[in-house]
Amino acid sequence: MSRAEQTSKRDTPTTGVRKSSQHSRCLHRQCPDSDEPMPACGESGRDADWREAHIPSLLPFARFSLCTHDECFPEKGGMD
Ligand SMILES: [Zn+2]
Repeated sequence: MSRAEQTSKRDTPTTGVRKSSQHSRCLHRQCPDSDEPMPACGESGRDADWREAHIPSLLPFARFSLCTHDECFPEKGGMD
């Protein structure tokens, strides 16, 4: 489970967004064009209730993971 460590060393902001409903475990990058919590990738659920997430405090928990869309946290060279 060293994947999270590698990820956290990259350009990961302190604040991201996550869907507050449906027990979503995916953390997204905050959309730079929006003042409200919104995922940069336009992940499904535009009408969903998004809230800010403090990534460093959530990512260490295995149940959370980073969105791998290009606009959020694309995996570089890590494709299996
Ligand atoms: Zn995303």
